[in-house]
Amino acid sequence: MDRQNTRIAIGIIVAICLIAALCFWPIGPAEADSGHRPVMGTFARVVAVAPDTKTANRCIEAAFAQIYKVDQLMSDYKDDSEISQVNRDAFKRAVKISKSTYEVLQKAVQFSKLSAGAFDVTVGPLVQLWRSASEANSVPTDTELQDARSKVGYEKLILDANEMSVRFVVDGMKLDLGGIAKGYAIDKAVEAMKKSGALGAMVDIGGDIRCFGTPSKGKSQWLIGVQDPSKARDGLDPGTSSLVLRLKDAAIATSGNYRRFALIKGIKYTHIISRKTAAGAEGLSSVTVISEKALDADALATAVTVMGAEKGLTLVEKTPQTEAILITSPPEQKFIRTSGAEKYTKY
Ligand code: AMP
Ligand code: MG
Repeated sequence: MDRQNTRIAIGIIVAICLIAALCFWPIGPAEADSGHRPVMGTFARVVAVAPDTKTANRCIEAAFAQIYKVDQLMSDYKDDSEISQVNRDAFKRAVKISKSTYEVLQKAVQFSKLSAGAFDVTVGPLVQLWRSASEANSVPTDTELQDARSKVGYEKLILDANEMSVRFVVDGMKLDLGGIAKGYAIDKAVEAMKKSGALGAMVDIGGDIRCFGTPSKGKSQWLIGVQDPSKARDGLDPGTSSLVLRLKDAAIATSGNYRRFALIKGIKYTHIISRKTAAGAEGLSSVTVISEKALDADALATAVTVMGAEKGLTLVEKTPQTEAILITSPPEQKFIRTSGAEKYTKY
């Protein structure tokens, strides 16, 4: 072999090595998907994007550890949760609570004030009355409704920041964090994932979602479907999306009367209750709020459902970096958006 041929041979070997290295070089970051896990009376799913698969899996477990913790503290379905203990004892004595529960309660009171009681964290007696009405298949009587309503009102809640305690002014009051705790759990999960090394993630609890950083599958944004209320089905079936939102670092929460409701003598009653009327909020079948934090989006979506389109939109318009997309109840099913919502639906 002369010199010329040797050079060509070396060149070919180097080229082959380069191509092989490129083929086996990891393209982009690794991903892990938790699939759906039951929690908070619904299902949660977490997708993590990380430098490697091990880190992605660790991020998912870090997220779920936070979600389970929040559920254990704040569920009113669990007898041994902190909220259940408050509901049992807070009229008799001030009950000390964890930093997390205190933080959520403070935020909840803030949103109760902001929405003039449309969102009310003390709506528990009315929610429970409608829950038992559904089990008994009989609409509550006026006396029952009035009695429950007299025990509702965030103004009758005493929070002590020094003691980190909560106390009720009226006997029979009950807290209900169902309209805000999912959002808080999502924010906590996101925090934990960032700390655990995630480059990007999506955390979904029952359709309330927050995403950040590098999107899944090499896309430039996270794509989130908002369900068409008229085509919603039960369980995990995603049904049909009426629109797809494109998000980077944002949270979205949807309150809808199509998934959870009480069925009494064949009539649907929504699970979101107005303290003013003591009955379900009826005018909007779906309220989607986009905001920076999931807690804010969650609380506002519930608040706007009760406030109705006009007042609800006014509240969202004056809240910085927050947008909303509403769908009115059938038969109209009209879409109404805040002025800046379009940027999330543009392709
Ligand atoms: P969401 O799905 O976030 O809209 O929350 C609905 C849940 O919030 C209900 O199942 C109740 O637990 C609770 N809830 C119902 N009505 C209200 C209200 N007016 N203010 C605050 N929370 C409420
Ligand atoms: Mg909510």
